[in-house]
Parts: sequence; structure tokens; C-alpha cells
Amino acid sequence: MARTVLLNPGPVTLSEAVRRAATSTDLCHREPEFLDLQQAVIEGLLGVYACDPGQWAAVPLGGSGTLAMEAMLASTVRPAERLLVLENGVYGERLRSIADVHGLPADSLRYRWGEAIDGAAVEQRLASGDYAALAMVHHETTTGRLNALDEMADLCAAHGVRLMVDGVSSFGAEAIPFEHPALSACAATANKCLHGITGLAVVLVRRALLDAQLPPRSVYMDLATWAARQARGSTPFTPPVNAYLALHAALAELEAQGGWPARHARYTACAERVRGALADKGVAPWLAPAESSCALRSYGMPSTLNYNDVHDGFKQRGFIIYAGQGGLSKEMFRISTMGDISDDDLERLAVAIDQVFEQ
Ligand SMILES: *Cc1c(COP(=O)(O)O)cnc(C)c1O
Repeated sequence: MARTVLLNPGPVTLSEAVRRAATSTDLCHREPEFLDLQQAVIEGLLGVYACDPGQWAAVPLGGSGTLAMEAMLASTVRPAERLLVLENGVYGERLRSIADVHGLPADSLRYRWGEAIDGAAVEQRLASGDYAALAMVHHETTTGRLNALDEMADLCAAHGVRLMVDGVSSFGAEAIPFEHPALSACAATANKCLHGITGLAVVLVRRALLDAQLPPRSVYMDLATWAARQARGSTPFTPPVNAYLALHAALAELEAQGGWPARHARYTACAERVRGALADKGVAPWLAPAESSCALRSYGMPSTLNYNDVHDGFKQRGFIIYAGQGGLSKEMFRISTMGDISDDDLERLAVAIDQVFEQ
């Protein structure tokens, strides 16, 4: 079968080693072979950003990235604590929905999709003293915008507020300040910048938050339960064993390639190559590259073309691109350069861009 390269923001194109690892063996999750694997994955996850294992727990649990977001909020916000949520895309809005579903008192600062978050407005809200925690998306995949995580962390620290981050589409490829005292938890997934397979959500959380004796809001996704069981070489429920096998191989690959800074550099080079090829055809970024992540860029859809035709043109040539979400579906499309994309793939992609936008 001809190679199809995924240019959607996860699941990503796998390396051969990761694809093979996923089905390399059958494991019972109550046997030491799996529990050693689980421990190695936990250590690998902590290692990506050199998190101090005395301060941080990495908790993998079966589910998609949304489960990581939900487990993070539901497991760490104490009764009567109030949350400020920053929304400038689909995933910020999802953080707010999660807070609402779990009955967590929350207010939002809302921006148009793609708009930058205004630090002064955040500062003013946090200065009110009403909030115990700030929840935000790092890379807002709706538009490719990389939100100002360091600035928000400083504001949180200044006001004694915990910062909780959806890093689902940035963990493994963008700088995340785990040493910053305000950063309290980060949601991630195996199948985006880490290049694993789908099915494994991850939350990195400060151990102090797990010790808070918070009554569980969920049987399945209570992080304190997961962390305690994993720490004593166990697991509360049947885990996605194959996703562990794949993530173990993917983490080894990430380290061998030079860690997240090398991945950041690779994604950036790929994204710039794509931007250049699109610019040659008169297709301009929808959001400025300087404000975008390394992992995904959004582009304006030429008014003479229809997304479905463009999508199908790429698909015939072996590439899956990604539509704009909701109200943006007519005006922009997205190209992610996450995943194991080779130089050969980029050559073919440049040709595909030239052909699809030829007119
Ligand atoms: C992909 C993504 C998620 C999670 O999506 P799932 O479909 O649940 O895996 C959450 N936040 C961001 C920023 C994402 O890009």
C-alpha cells in the first residue's frame, strides 16, 4: 500500500520501530513484564523535561487527550476552590466544559479563536484573589497559536495561583517550564508530539496535589488512585498494553534523537518548508508563524477553492490535511508536521502542494 502521511494533529505517522513495538508481544497487566514496562514509561515521561521525581508524578492512564484534561481538573481542584479558565479556541472551551460538568466553580476570559490572551486582563482577574487555579491551553490546536505559558506562570506565581496546562499538543516539542513553582499539572497524550499510538493519556502532576486527600470525583480517572497504585507496582484497571509498548519505543526514539529541543527544531524546519511551498502558490498563513507552535500551522483557504477538493487532492497524493474547526472551516485549513515525517515525505509534499494549488 502506498504510504499515507498524516498531517493532522494526532494521531501521527508512526516510525517503523514504534509500529512494530505496538504489537511486539502479548502481556498480562498483572505480570512483572508489564509492570516493569509501566515503570519504564513513567520514568521516560518524567525524563522528557527532566522533572524531579520527588516533586512530580507522571500518571499514564487509558484514554484520549481529553481524558488527561478531565483527570487533571477533576483530581486537583478542591471543593470551594475557584478556577479561572482562558479560552481562545476549542480546547480552552473544553477546559471550561469539564469544569462545568464536574461542578467546579469557574470563570472564563474568552477571546476570539486565534486571538492572543491579554496578560493585563489575566493579571487583573488573578489580583482579585478569587482564584485558586488558572487553567489554560498551551498550544491551542484550533488555530496553531502558542499561548504565552511563561508569562501566565509568572502571573500565577505572583498571585499564589496554581497553573494547570493542557499541553496535549505541545508536550514533547515545545518548552514547558516544569521547574516554575506555579506550574502544578500538565495534561498530555502519547499520540501527538511523543509519536506513540492512540489510547494513552498522561498527566504530569505535582505530588503535593495528589496528597491533598481530595474526595474522588470519578471512579476511573482519579489521579491519586492511579499514582498510588502505579507507585506500588500495580494498576487499578486494564491498561492499553499495546499503547505502553509503543510509547516506550517512542520515548527511546525521542531521547536518541536529542529530546524535545531536537523535535522542536525538526518540526519547525518541516513547518517552514511547508510554509515556503504554500507561499510559492500564494497561500498565506492564517496566523503569523511567530505566534504559532512548531507543531501545527493554519493557512488561509484561497477563496477560489473549496476545502473538500483541496483535502481530496492531497489525499490522492498520500497526505491527510486537516480542516478548520467550526466557524473557521471555510476560511482556513491546518497542516501539522507532528509525527515521523521523513525528508522524502517533505519532498513529495512540496510536489503535492505545487499540484493541488496549481491553477
Ligand atoms: C488533541 C488535543 C486534545 C485532546 O483531544 P482528544 O481527541 O481527546 O485526544 C486536547 N487538547 C489539545 C490542545 C489538543 O490538541
